[in-house]
Amino acid sequence: MTTENASHDFIRKIIDDDLATGKHTEIVTRFPPEPNGYLHIGHAKSICLNFGIAAEYPTTRCHLRFDDTNPTKEEQEYIDAIKADVRWLGFDWGDNLFHASDYFEKLYEFAEHLITTGHAYVCDLTGDEIREYRGTLTEPGRESPYRNRSVEENLDLFRRMRAGDFPDGSRVLRAKIDMTSGNINMRDPVLYRILRASHPRTGDAWCIYPMYDYTHPISDALEGITHSLCTLEFEDHRPLYDWTLNHLPIPCHPRQIEFARLNLSYTVVSKRKLLRLVKEGKVSGWDDPRMPTLSGIRRRGFTPAALRDFCTRIGVAKKDSIVEVELLEHCLREDLNENAARVMGVLEPLKLVITNYPEDEVDSLTAQNHPQNPEMGTRQVPFSRELYIEQADFMEDPPKKFFRLGPGREVRLRYAYIIKCEEIIKDEAGTIIELRCTYDPATRGGDTPDGRKIKGTIHWVSAQHAVRAEVRLYDRLFRQADPESEGDFMECLNPDSLQILDHALVEPSMGMAEPGRNYQFERQGYFCLDNKDTQPAHPVFNRTVTLRDTWAKVNKTV
Ligand code: ATP
Ligand code: MG
Repeated sequence: MTTENASHDFIRKIIDDDLATGKHTEIVTRFPPEPNGYLHIGHAKSICLNFGIAAEYPTTRCHLRFDDTNPTKEEQEYIDAIKADVRWLGFDWGDNLFHASDYFEKLYEFAEHLITTGHAYVCDLTGDEIREYRGTLTEPGRESPYRNRSVEENLDLFRRMRAGDFPDGSRVLRAKIDMTSGNINMRDPVLYRILRASHPRTGDAWCIYPMYDYTHPISDALEGITHSLCTLEFEDHRPLYDWTLNHLPIPCHPRQIEFARLNLSYTVVSKRKLLRLVKEGKVSGWDDPRMPTLSGIRRRGFTPAALRDFCTRIGVAKKDSIVEVELLEHCLREDLNENAARVMGVLEPLKLVITNYPEDEVDSLTAQNHPQNPEMGTRQVPFSRELYIEQADFMEDPPKKFFRLGPGREVRLRYAYIIKCEEIIKDEAGTIIELRCTYDPATRGGDTPDGRKIKGTIHWVSAQHAVRAEVRLYDRLFRQADPESEGDFMECLNPDSLQILDHALVEPSMGMAEPGRNYQFERQGYFCLDNKDTQPAHPVFNRTVTLRDTWAKVNKTV
């Protein structure tokens, strides 16, 4: 049934079986974010799974449903960002956009049904008391003194809860299940609470709000979801999911299936923690390019194709694990290596004057946009007497294996000429401020007609043509592979995760760099224009990732 290259995990096998046995003729999945923060890389796994299945099987759809039952933490800003992120990843929910809040009236009716059938009651214990009565993993809970209220009294109280007769937090509606259950979630869980908070969609229409565990199965069932895919922490909630649907007159009973969440080394994936980074000003916002949010990594230059590839490679399993961030970078490099146009940019410039080149002459040299892919074409790069090269490409006293520039040494300027360093100019403090070189006119394009071997090739820009740019180099946000393992994750923030270079010079074509496109600055890494901080006369480039792939070293089996 599935397309050939789709990874065939245990969930897809279940779906295959359900189709083969005729249990289902169409498959419906959903991605159900709570709009209380921005989506992160972990959500990408869930999106690729749910929407991926919808794309692979012929009679399938995937719903985007906002689980918006907690108005104190949810905002329209998050809803908009989540939609943009899902679209950016390459998925489309079509007409299937839903909100749990669309079901508030139905959820309320179902709650009355539970009361009428003796399966729910209004409880006046305080939050602390409920917790205390709940018992522990080793001790059973105790029944609430309000548990045996009559159906009439419960109905009356619940209706008055809705009508706003009682203060916030004074009463709750609870399911009547089993206070001695080995599963704490089954010890009379709260279904509704009183909360006077304005909701982004329903405004002030409600002062009682349903709890997640009650809302989720009903929303799934009302939408005709067949397979409700969620992360492992909901395994213990499955009995409650099933109990809820078993006690309500809804014909549909989706199957909840749990899979392992994505954990990534050097990364935190929890909206609560990411919100803390934002709130405490450790990053510039949810879309800071160091953030593992989809908006952050998009701004950083990650591509949706790389993310989808990553999600396919990590697969879907039942066991929690930590994926090496190097694998994500590897998928990214593979995509960028193939697709990013090559350009020249000097991050830390050193002036270089070609003394035997005429002062007002400008040569136009042909450079390839992608050396391995001629189809990407060529461009013209101006060459003149005054150039800039990378400071790191010159050493006054170079070791033998340094194949770049040194006094009296020759090097190739990419796409241009062979030059030789004749003289070093220093300022009073002894800092090198200029190199004086000669060029060999017979080597135009970088060829050596006499066959002499030039090992090093370095990049450069023409001083009078180059575009000044700000370049932002990013390193990991955390110093530890598992920032969540011990103590406070805020303690292991990497103080050097952002380095700003504000004197970079890029070749003139980059004056027209396009937002959303990826470029390889030759020998430096992959970069993209920062779509937020770039100004007309002030381009800002983000380094997406360096060129060096450490994944091969980390894991030779992939
Ligand atoms: P967080 O812990 O970051 O707050 P969440 O699970 O509360 O995440 P939701 O908005 O409720 O966030 O998640 C929407 C969907 O995304 C859920 O089905 C959830 O299981 C899934 N999801 C969240 N985090 C991950 C993750 N790290 N890996 C895989 N799926 C995830
Ligand atoms: Mg959640």
